[in-house]
Amino acid sequence: MSDDCIFCSIVAGDIPARVVAETDDALAFLDANPMARGHTLVIPKAHHRRVADLSREESRAVFDLVHDLAPRIEDAIDADAHTIGVNDGPDAGQEVPHAHVHVIPRFDGDGGGPIHVAAGERPDLDDDELDEIADAIGA
Ligand code: 5GP
Ligand code: ZN
Repeated sequence: MSDDCIFCSIVAGDIPARVVAETDDALAFLDANPMARGHTLVIPKAHHRRVADLSREESRAVFDLVHDLAPRIEDAIDADAHTIGVNDGPDAGQEVPHAHVHVIPRFDGDGGGPIHVAAGERPDLDDDELDEIADAIGA
């Protein structure tokens, strides 16, 4: 637990939240400033900043909860789809430094876009560069 973390305070029950699901290692609650009806955040109960900081067990617990909740949210608010994503690090737009998965319900004609709009300008990469990148990541 981190003393000055909003999400740790929610886990501890010190700050109220609309909790929609809970397991041993993960918690899900409605976003206080939703991008859509039913916008839900799924977090590890333990304080970690980035996705890669989670243990495998915590990582599984978080994604299992996303997996279980998405159809429930879709049914509950009659959504057509979901955008599921993580702002993983401040340069990707992460504002709360406690890792969290956004589960954002989507509706036909809602005016939103695919997750691709989150990234900046597309790089123009040739085959050699793509090979190099794949090698670097795979190494
Ligand atoms: P980030 O930009 O870090 O990926 O997203 C943080 C999210 O947390 C935002 O969508 C914001 O609305 C939500 N949020 C921030 N503070 C609180 C809070 O105290 N309670 C709840 N339920 N959501 C919050
Ligand atoms: Zn925290």
